[in-house]
Amino acid sequence: MGKINEFFNEYLEILDYYKNLTGINYEIRYQKEFNSQPEISSIIKKIIENKEYISSRLDPKYNKIRIRMSCPKCGLTDKNSILNKYENNKIIFNCPIHGEYYADLNKDTSMLEYNSPYRNLIRCIYYTLVNNNPNYDYQIIRVTGSDYAGFYQEEMRYKLASYLGIQHIRCQ
Ligand SMILES: [Zn+2]
Repeated sequence: MGKINEFFNEYLEILDYYKNLTGINYEIRYQKEFNSQPEISSIIKKIIENKEYISSRLDPKYNKIRIRMSCPKCGLTDKNSILNKYENNKIIFNCPIHGEYYADLNKDTSMLEYNSPYRNLIRCIYYTLVNNNPNYDYQIIRVTGSDYAGFYQEEMRYKLASYLGIQHIRCQ
């Protein structure tokens, strides 16, 4: 909906404040850029392979993999991923007006969106893969809230990443 743009300058003000305070520069990356990274496809596939385990913990209400993509013709989204189907490295979505459309997980990941628990899990797995890969010349540190929700999400991510066989370094 572009709502973020209404408040973007306020985010920049905070980032600029810390930049001036610390001398550390920053870069802004959008979800689309994050999703275009080569590791994302395999992370999504792994989540889908383990969908019963993951969805029962991250979406106990609907028991769904909360990954979505807007209809390319009208922009509508099945926000709760109720009608998603998973076949042969594709996620098939359903628009009430235009019917089925799909994302090929080998090339269309940049268009995907997730609800917060899934977004957190995917980010955390991605950061862990980068931090465990000696081909990257940097490490990622993630700063998360230390309130109850932040703590709960961190513990949940740790358990789920371990289940998926990701040697997880706690991000704090
Ligand atoms: Zn549509």
